[in-house]
Amino acid sequence: MQFHELGLRLALLDAVAAMGYKEATPIQEKAIPLMLQGRDVIGSAQTGTGKTAAFALPIIHQIGTHGPGPRCLVLEPTRELASQTEENFKKFAKFTNLNVSVVFGGVGYGKQKDELKAGVDILVATPGRLLDHMQEKLVDLSRVKHLVLDEADRMLDMGFLPDVKRIVEKCGKDRQTALFSATVPPAIETLIQWAMRSPETIEIGARRSPAETVKHVLYPVAERQKKDLLRALLDHVHYESVLIFCRTRRRADDIEALLKRNQHRVAAIHSDRSQAEREQALAGFKSGKFEVLVATDIASRGLDIADVTHVINFDVPQHPEDYVHRIGRTGRAKSTGDAFTIMVAEDAQAVRSIERYIDRTIERVKLKDFNYDYTAIFDDGKPGMGHVAERKVKGVRLTGGYYFGPAKRRR
Ligand code: ADP
Ligand code: MG
Repeated sequence: MQFHELGLRLALLDAVAAMGYKEATPIQEKAIPLMLQGRDVIGSAQTGTGKTAAFALPIIHQIGTHGPGPRCLVLEPTRELASQTEENFKKFAKFTNLNVSVVFGGVGYGKQKDELKAGVDILVATPGRLLDHMQEKLVDLSRVKHLVLDEADRMLDMGFLPDVKRIVEKCGKDRQTALFSATVPPAIETLIQWAMRSPETIEIGARRSPAETVKHVLYPVAERQKKDLLRALLDHVHYESVLIFCRTRRRADDIEALLKRNQHRVAAIHSDRSQAEREQALAGFKSGKFEVLVATDIASRGLDIADVTHVINFDVPQHPEDYVHRIGRTGRAKSTGDAFTIMVAEDAQAVRSIERYIDRTIERVKLKDFNYDYTAIFDDGKPGMGHVAERKVKGVRLTGGYYFGPAKRRR
């Protein structure tokens, strides 16, 4: 469906055209008309399916022109998502006179205070910093007519529920509330009942399945060979940009250092890095200055990083939802991407829960010419593994030749 069929103002159609959007995505096609009617909407669709425009366009349409505000509040779980959503709103509102601002922690208060005092129509915020500004009476949410809880699942995971509740209580009662999330876990249901008015639910695609365009595989290996395998994978794969996810900040630092020593252009992003460092890493990764970005899972949700050709989970994610989110970093906007997960024996349980969650078996593959040490994980009899008798003999050193095609050559 074309955007002009959705009943949006000309200023918005022009902005969308300027951004190069041709057709509305399925979530946009369904959510925009409902939002324009003023309905409360729960939208669940995979990462990268255009949820931001699905709420931003109808909200800008309804607000129309500059006035006392804020009339729209969008809550986001992380600084990066908040600043990305603000940028998007600014682009969509380019041909209007609406003021869009963002507030998040980790940076000074000055600029945020100035903007709030100057008058904001649309405010994008992370919960903690917004509460600070509210405490100082710099923001009055009583005029909020449109409230968006974006990436609601992640917001709850991060323990923001009490903060979110405090904020929602201060918003105008007569308002439209929209909740967007890649997944809708049961914990969100209470928030929905409490904050929303007979919402319409839109669910695009199977809630749980990773993007269809991503080819994802598991690389079983002995624990002590994880780093070697990672290096071998990076040597072997024809990537343009890789996101590597690690379980801990320490591990992310280690991997960054290791890859630096191996002449990779690499940066890291996690919660111990300052806001400036995180922004530099992200900007450098987007511009191509860094080809590899190592991250803990703060970066795994919603961040719009174009052209990630590969995602590598150095550690198996502990929550199945995180697996779906992480591999959602690649294959955005319909291009294909590959997602590799390095797995050791202790991960068997976590991998089983992921497979149950996405309702399919993930193929186990081996890297050609990699000198595998034996590990019991090779005995688990899953497809693609364990059909070679000698692997069952303990202590046998496996020597490559089990090539199941890890990466397609690109371009
Ligand atoms: P989500 O919030 O669902 O993860 P985003 O709103 O961040 O997804 O959008 C993902 C990417 O797709 C962004 O780069 C966005 O500009 C782009 N995009 C969104 N809608 C369209 C569209 N209709 N046509 C083309 N690209 C789009
Ligand atoms: Mg999003």
